[in-house]
Amino acid sequence: MPRPRRLFVTTALPYANGSFHIGHIMEYIQADIWVRFQRMQGHEVHFVCADDAHGAPIMLKAEAEGVTPEQLIGRIAAERPRYLDGFHIRFDNWHSTHSDENTELSQDIYRKLKAAGLIYTKPVEQFYDPVKGMFLADRYLKGECPQCGAKDQYGDACEVCSSVYAPTDLKHPYSTLSGAEPVLKTSEHYFFRLSDAKCKQFLREWLGEPGRLQSQVVNKAREWLEGDADKSLGDWDISRDAPYFGIRIPDTPDKYFYVWLDAPVGYLASLKNYCAKKNLDFEALLAAPDTEQIHFIGKDIIYFHTLFWPATLKFAGYKVPDHVYVHGFITVSGEKMSKSRGTGISPLRYLELGMNPEWLRYYLAAKLNANVEDVDFNPDDFLARVNSDLVGKYVNIASRAAGFVAKRFGGRLCAASVPENALLEKFQAAAGAIAASYATREFGKALRDIMALADDANSFVDLNRPWDLAKDSQASPRLHQVCSDAINLFRLLTIYLKPVLPQLALQVEGFLAVEPLDWRDAGTLLPAGHRIQEYRHLLTRVEEKQLDALFEPPAAQAVPQATAPQRHAQHQQHQSKERTMSEPAATPPAVQPAADKPATISIDDFARLELRVARIANAEQVEGADKLVKLTLDLGGEQRTVFAGIKSAYAPDSLKGRLTVMVANLAPRKMRFGVSEGMVLAASGDGPGIFLIAPDSGAEAGMRVK
Ligand SMILES: [Zn+2]
Repeated sequence: MPRPRRLFVTTALPYANGSFHIGHIMEYIQADIWVRFQRMQGHEVHFVCADDAHGAPIMLKAEAEGVTPEQLIGRIAAERPRYLDGFHIRFDNWHSTHSDENTELSQDIYRKLKAAGLIYTKPVEQFYDPVKGMFLADRYLKGECPQCGAKDQYGDACEVCSSVYAPTDLKHPYSTLSGAEPVLKTSEHYFFRLSDAKCKQFLREWLGEPGRLQSQVVNKAREWLEGDADKSLGDWDISRDAPYFGIRIPDTPDKYFYVWLDAPVGYLASLKNYCAKKNLDFEALLAAPDTEQIHFIGKDIIYFHTLFWPATLKFAGYKVPDHVYVHGFITVSGEKMSKSRGTGISPLRYLELGMNPEWLRYYLAAKLNANVEDVDFNPDDFLARVNSDLVGKYVNIASRAAGFVAKRFGGRLCAASVPENALLEKFQAAAGAIAASYATREFGKALRDIMALADDANSFVDLNRPWDLAKDSQASPRLHQVCSDAINLFRLLTIYLKPVLPQLALQVEGFLAVEPLDWRDAGTLLPAGHRIQEYRHLLTRVEEKQLDALFEPPAAQAVPQATAPQRHAQHQQHQSKERTMSEPAATPPAVQPAADKPATISIDDFARLELRVARIANAEQVEGADKLVKLTLDLGGEQRTVFAGIKSAYAPDSLKGRLTVMVANLAPRKMRFGVSEGMVLAASGDGPGIFLIAPDSGAEAGMRVK
């Protein structure tokens, strides 16, 4: 074995204003698999994360809910373990950027940057909301596009004509927080001198270190670093004025660190908090030259992690990151998730449906590689791959051999037939190549190689036909040999799959009656006379109806509440935005059960809903869906397809010709069975029953409901 490595590994800090979405879970699964693999190699790993708890969005959300920011982030923190435990994601520590450690470290880094001459102040003129009494980040500003005159456009770019401009160019600007007309106001801002020649020189060297970053990431970072004269790397505005939920800038009465300064420091804060719990020397661990500092992140936050973060660490005298491993986004059936389309998968719903978390771990791992590529979740592919690979190939090997060993040989194995059975050596020899794939995050390749071996093992069983051998008492030694070899092959596959399937591996270790399996155990085989336990069912198949339930909206879903405008930042290098560390990787799904207490909406909010009378022109069963009816709705000339969760209450034929009310301007939503272009309204209560809404007689298809 090579000398053990010491690895300090993090994932991006999730913003603490909402629950995890599937994009977070994918990143954690990727990092968790890598970490588990490294531990199986005998390496020392410290794997930490934290909530990113500061910034204006959290302050404003807490205010809107009538709670303190601390209460809001406390509530979010309390729900984290359910997801992490649920998907077998095992961080050593989970902390918060709203912590003593983070305050101390952020202020220390700032003081050292200041002492190095890299901090200066200058006045900045910015829009200010006189009603809210606060400066407005671009996302809280709207107005008319200076180019095309479109109304309600954000402060930096027009979504109608795509032109890009400065917030001060907006015509008739207003604050989205209060509706007030903002005024321009000047305040002193603090800047980190990122454009300094020594910063740029350092970054060139840091980016150029072979093997440090993926080549796509280096190219992207270099574009920003060496951009054209007018777009070259600027200095970084690191301050925000009160009111702000964050860390105070030392020696100022009312200035706070911009959330992006203290967010990555949260990596170190979580490590420090963990070291205190474990009685480890934080400073020594962090600074040790042989400690490798590794960040797993999404492609949307490359800018911060490859420019600001290494530069702030370097010039504050801290150790710089060794690697930043970047992954793409997760899409569903080829579509990027968005709140408005709601094509997301809710990780909580996945768990609540009792779906096996290791199915998802396996599926995502099979699709992950070392490139910055998006990963697509396709429900049919998910079902086929999990059932065929895990159940049909892997688990099948044990289930085919174990019964004979138990019934005929008292659960005892005979010595593996090496070298006669060449498969055993082939399986053992594969350990190196599979390890190399895991180490380089080529998980898809690792799993392809492992499944090719599983095919070999099944062919071996097929060829030797233990079920036939069992009928012939003369063939008993041969039966014993075939089954013992199959169990040994199964054990080797389990070692290789263990980083991805930790819970299943634990069950297999119980069945095989062995100590927790490490990578080096691939060098050995189970000895003659080893007694295995009775085989118990290891893994169930994915069923279609589970996927249907995962993608179906809850029956008789209420009209969604009007939500604050959300959108993806278009220019991620724009550091003036109040962006958060993990916000845009994937937005949470729109499909949420109606809240207990709907928020009050204005008449304008209501007017945004286009409710229309619709005639149900056709209604049909949806093959394979328990709850859905496929409706063809006539809006008086225009037809829409809507999948409605009303099958329990209505036979499709009984619906034909009826009038009902639909939400006609709901964004189309991709479901397992097709695209649903709206929603019909129905009532339901705590008891059973779903009651479709119908207009009074005389109403006609297409009429607007107001
Ligand atoms: Zn425009």
